[in-house]
Formats: sequence, structure tokens, C-alpha cells
Amino acid sequence: MNREEEASERRAHEMFTDRLIRSSVYCSSCGYCLRTLPYIHQCPECGQEYNARPLVMKGIFVPSMADPPVYEAIMGPVFAAGAVLLVVSGVQTRDIWRLVIGAALAAGSYVELTQGWAKLKKFRVAIRIQRRIEREEE
Ligand SMILES: [Zn+2]
Repeated sequence: MNREEEASERRAHEMFTDRLIRSSVYCSSCGYCLRTLPYIHQCPECGQEYNARPLVMKGIFVPSMADPPVYEAIMGPVFAAGAVLLVVSGVQTRDIWRLVIGAALAAGSYVELTQGWAKLKKFRVAIRIQRRIEREEE
């Protein structure tokens, strides 16, 4: 961030520090409705710091967090199966390239599965928050 960007960031921060949120936005950790609270503050229920300033939106629940890890759930096992088949046939035929590609697929499988796991944890929190929002809007 250069000096001009820092000054602009500081002005935007000051502009919103005293303002109150007028619409329904929710804490990304517990789903508490932050309406009538300051734009930059901490959740009164769970204590998570948030910034509801437009373009910042840190600690604020965004419905797209509730996207399930479909791609990772498919590609992780597909890469793993491909890796096993290539490594087994690479060992049987003593083909170094099958072993190399098999190792690359194993690495890809590891990446997809770890990303999918992280996304699954966010997905579960998002579903819990979504249910809370629906319950409290009734
Ligand atoms: Zn909270």
C-alpha cells in the first residue's frame, strides 16, 4: 500500500467508525445480527472483530461461504485413484514416467482433499449461520 492508498484507507476507516449498520448483516463466526451496531467493532455475542465497511467485509457472513466443496469432493478421489493405478503399473512395468505422473496426481489429490476439508468446515459453519438467520427472521 502506498502513501496515497494509506491516507484513503484511513479516511474511509474514520468515515465508518462512528456509523451504525442499517441493514441486516451477520457475524461470520456465530451469525449474530449486527444491525444497529458500529461498522467497525466486535460481535457482542462471540467477540469476533468485524469490519462491515463496503469492499472490506471482514468477519461478516457472506452467503457464498455456503458453497459445498463439490469439485474437491470429486477431484480428490479421482486424482487419488489415478495416482494408485499409475504407481502400481509404473512399478510393474518399471516405467519411470508412470511413477512421476502418479506422484504428481498424488500431490494433486492431497491438495484437493485438504482444500475440500477446509471448505467443508466453512460450509458447516455457513449452514449453521444460515439456519440461525432463517430461525430469527421468522
Ligand atoms: Zn459473533
